Amino acid sequence: MRAPLIPLTDELKQAVPTSTIVTATARQAQELRYSWAFEAVAAGKLAWEAPNIRHFNAWVLELYEELMRKGHPSAKSGLLQQTALTLALRLCAPDDEYFKHTNAVADAWRIYCGWNLQRVGPDLDQTENGRLFRNWIREFEMFCSEQEVITTPQLPKLIADAIRAREFKPNRACMFACDELSPSQQDLVRQLNRIGQLGESLELPLFDGPRHKVHVFKSTARERTGFVQWGRERLAQLGPESRIGVVVPQISNEYLTIRRHWEAAFFDSEDVDQLVNVGSGVPLGDTRLCQDIIKLLTWTITDLNFSEVLQLGRSPYLTALEIPTQFPRDYPDHIRFAGYASRSSSGASKQITRLTTRRPSLLSDWASVALQVFRAAGWSTDKDSDEDRRIHASIVDVLNSVSHLSAFVGRVSWSQAVEYIRDGVRSAQLAYNTRNSPIQVVDRSESVGLQFDALWVCSVAEDKWPPDPNPNPMIPISVQRRAVMPRVTHQQMLGWAQLLTRVWACSAPEVVFSAAPMEDQTEALPSRLLMEHDRSDINRILSQSGIAEFDHPWGVARQQHMVREFIADKGTPLPPEEVAEQRTSVIRDQSNCPFRAWAIHRAKLPESKHPHRFPDPLDRGTAVHKVMQLLVERARDRGAILELDSVDIEMAIDSAVAPLRKMLLPDRFIEYEKARIREIVNSWQELERAREDFQIVEVEQEYVLELEGFSFKLRVDRVDKTNELKALVIDYKTGTVRIRNWSTPRPLDPQMPLYSMVVPNCDGLAYEEISGSDVKLRGVSDRSTSEDGIKLASKQLDVSLSTLKNDWRTALSTIAREFKDGLATVKPTNVNYICRNCHLDGFCRTFTDIDMPVIPEVEVE
Ligand code: SF4
Repeated sequence: MRAPLIPLTDELKQAVPTSTIVTATARQAQELRYSWAFEAVAAGKLAWEAPNIRHFNAWVLELYEELMRKGHPSAKSGLLQQTALTLALRLCAPDDEYFKHTNAVADAWRIYCGWNLQRVGPDLDQTENGRLFRNWIREFEMFCSEQEVITTPQLPKLIADAIRAREFKPNRACMFACDELSPSQQDLVRQLNRIGQLGESLELPLFDGPRHKVHVFKSTARERTGFVQWGRERLAQLGPESRIGVVVPQISNEYLTIRRHWEAAFFDSEDVDQLVNVGSGVPLGDTRLCQDIIKLLTWTITDLNFSEVLQLGRSPYLTALEIPTQFPRDYPDHIRFAGYASRSSSGASKQITRLTTRRPSLLSDWASVALQVFRAAGWSTDKDSDEDRRIHASIVDVLNSVSHLSAFVGRVSWSQAVEYIRDGVRSAQLAYNTRNSPIQVVDRSESVGLQFDALWVCSVAEDKWPPDPNPNPMIPISVQRRAVMPRVTHQQMLGWAQLLTRVWACSAPEVVFSAAPMEDQTEALPSRLLMEHDRSDINRILSQSGIAEFDHPWGVARQQHMVREFIADKGTPLPPEEVAEQRTSVIRDQSNCPFRAWAIHRAKLPESKHPHRFPDPLDRGTAVHKVMQLLVERARDRGAILELDSVDIEMAIDSAVAPLRKMLLPDRFIEYEKARIREIVNSWQELERAREDFQIVEVEQEYVLELEGFSFKLRVDRVDKTNELKALVIDYKTGTVRIRNWSTPRPLDPQMPLYSMVVPNCDGLAYEEISGSDVKLRGVSDRSTSEDGIKLASKQLDVSLSTLKNDWRTALSTIAREFKDGLATVKPTNVNYICRNCHLDGFCRTFTDIDMPVIPEVEVE
């Protein structure tokens, strides 16, 4: 059993049996109860009376309940606490657009009641926010009076008034370290004193404040690595019953990162929670489970875009929704849950649609519907971890709070109910079980009054300590200053920081203060409040200081290029069983950028196709390609092409646009598309008319290319025999084409080079380039031909086609071998051409250093 963090002094021991001990923070109350139990066990007791130790707010609630039990007239109202208070304030918002400020208004309400700001009501009107707040709470006070409810911030005044009127006499209480009470809380304590029920104030027991060590790290990540390493070393040195503390500024913002650091430091421990307790809670809405179910509820009332839906499909909690990993291309870009359910075969989605499309109901009914929705979606508490069960319990608490509003709100639609649930979740905190582990990581606000055998206080750089004031935005700053509210001016922050620094210095025989620069700075200085302590080398703080000099990969912030610290140029070689049939896109991607090929074909991260209502350039290009194929299958030489009549052409166009009809497009759109293709066909016939006689010897012929053990399947659009060329390979391309993209050693577009390697006697390569309604022939050969668009390869590509064919075989073999060997360097052959359309830029991180260039033209196939 580890030693208590707050030792029981003689005063405390005398006060506990006769009084309620009222502490400033919930953590102090918890630690004092632990201290009491520790003393009892140490004294050999088997049973003992539970001490009455309460956090100030919990004590006030207890007093209110006592008033209610005694039937005091002012304590007959219902009580709105935390989530219910926020939701009730939302009800009174002047307008829907202000809903987002509800949490700030709830905080301002606590200040308003605690500092008796009703006295200075008109002063609130000095600012626009102040006027908004005043109107808002006017409405809220009327609501409270009509509904006969009272809120927790109003309780101290109500109880103090009852004592003043001699209508209530609470039990004796002693304040423990309650130095920062609001005026209404102070008034309550004064009234207690007046009737003789206030015991001696209990002070925090502190060590003498010796000089301690201060160290500045190069980054926040190294600072974290430093304190976890120090924690491990101190635990080994001081033993499992010791008390080792780490103070961080705001645990809820960094809970996961800090926890991962401890898990890494205690990699050999099966249960790190036995050794380290990190904080006592995070916002409920930050948890993954909560985010997923709130997103699901949101989906039932509004459209989500397809990537949000895909993300929801990856949720481990909502598996019954059966959301696919890819959507068909004609899926709507944005879809509401009901739309998804009508297309899905999942019974759960249909059940959810049924549940959520009822008539307006009471909030309590909708709360139970929400639970049914979660269950139908696949969330089962049987499979949940302990943490998920705690989140589940917190969500049920929120739903209970929402249900309590039924009487005030009446019947509402499902959409309104979801808004209430979302707001409730946003204002709720997930409480963790604070474990009595030897290492305690605590928030600054929780650290006051706790004692340790060794303490590390981080983030005390000059620019972070004292921190900036954080006044409430709804109450004019001048009002907050005049009301002498704490921590609203720089002067107050300085005083508070000085006090806390002194308290920390006296909280352990050994204290380390550490600082690190902000993300965009290179250096930091320790806070001036630490001048009396010694700057110390890391070797004097850690016995194995080298570890803290390296950033742990889990802890490095994104801006610090974590991936580049651990670059490996190669993945594992392709397993032999996968070296068989491959698509030619492997060669193209490997040639363009080895990392791209590895990510798409090895890590299986292909670009997910965005569902689209109207055909995209690729769909439209495919339709044109299909028309060309159908026409040349029918007309196999120049003369036949010229003789194609409008009936043949219309039939081909109708057949090509048939897939577009399935997309339920408007008739007018289909007609425009057909007219566009008709124009292209006319241009194409003109192009073929202008050429010398030719025969089309192959259409959509399939070949297999064996290369480095791979079998690549190729399908060649068309091969022509002309008077001058035995085999002119023709490929239809929509958009602008570049013959230079065939250049070795890494062709940007290796498709034609691959064709040249399989088509027998290939002596010419050409694109039929379709740009708008224009069609042009552009290609190369080794012979001068009468074809306008066919140029000499030696002029276009600086080398003959026969030489190129050999070069291509060598280059493409090398590229295929690279892929087989697992080469995965982030090395785009041409940043302008490739990276701009690559979906992996966030993964490869190339553009953290490269300015994305503007590209003059983009090829669309
Ligand atoms: S963005 Fe460029 S560098 Fe990154 S993977 Fe794609 S092609 Fe390669």
